[in-house]
Amino acid sequence: MRKPPPNPHDLSRHDLDDILGTINEEVRQRFGEGEVADYIPSLADVPKDRFGMALALLDGKIHEVGHSRERFSIQSLSKVHTLTLALEAVGDGLWRRVDREPSGDPFNSLIQLEHEKGIPRNPFMNAGALICADVILSNFDDAEATLLAFMRARSGNPEVGTDEAVAKSERESGHRNVAMANFIRSYDNLDNDVQDVLDFYYLQCSLCMDCVDLARSVQYLADGGHCGASGVQVTTAEGATRINSVMMTAGTYDAAGDFAYYVGLPAKSGVGGGIAAVVPHVMGLCVWSPGLDEKGNSLLGRYALHRFTRMTGLSVF
Ligand code: GLN
Repeated sequence: MRKPPPNPHDLSRHDLDDILGTINEEVRQRFGEGEVADYIPSLADVPKDRFGMALALLDGKIHEVGHSRERFSIQSLSKVHTLTLALEAVGDGLWRRVDREPSGDPFNSLIQLEHEKGIPRNPFMNAGALICADVILSNFDDAEATLLAFMRARSGNPEVGTDEAVAKSERESGHRNVAMANFIRSYDNLDNDVQDVLDFYYLQCSLCMDCVDLARSVQYLADGGHCGASGVQVTTAEGATRINSVMMTAGTYDAAGDFAYYVGLPAKSGVGGGIAAVVPHVMGLCVWSPGLDEKGNSLLGRYALHRFTRMTGLSVF
């Protein structure tokens, strides 16, 4: 009789520190690949020879390697957290204002917005994140304080904060986001002042965190909505499943198919070089390396996640 394949979810089968060490060695050989996001001037100076990776297991244990405690600009990773807050505020009503389909277009694309009458394709493109920002501004008394408290509680790190220089840099260079917000407003799909929505969006992108903070911050998505760092039920198990699904299909923009193919985990990238991912029922994880591929995803980060899922068998496929 054929023996059943080993269960990758049994973590005692893996030497996770050894696996992280191997990945770290491999990635270091490739330092220098990819380009930093110089369209946001304050991100242009980040050195490329950086790589960190952290795993946050459901029992609270952390495994980490490399520059896992170096803070970086989380950029679009924050879109996972703002989607969670927006869904908490208005529930399924959110989906009347933003869709949940993959875009096949870059994160900052405007092209579908006119055809689709100001309804962004998904909450992880910039356009969709502006809707979540608008919902949060409308539904929480102090939106900025709410987001900051959320990030601190999810990561268990009270020192999580924003980098004003990054927010300023985005405010000064974000012409495309300005166009997008005004365009959406012209379809009556923003309730708040366009500048207020943009300011909140720049603030969320300018949050500064390290791989350990970020791995912990998405752990609730691996644990049926329960956040280990704070002991709080952040969303329902169904809510976590749904957010993971959108991450899988849209979290890495027009490379989502490629990510499913090579990595096979719900993941969200940011142009600061971070990628947060979820192994459902097992762990939250985060990789960081600032060199990006042509789709705006961390090139070595994607490689590291690919190696991790292949060495452990921990992909959802
Ligand atoms: N702040 C960035 C922007 O608006 C976020 C993009 C990203 O990380 N993919 O362009």
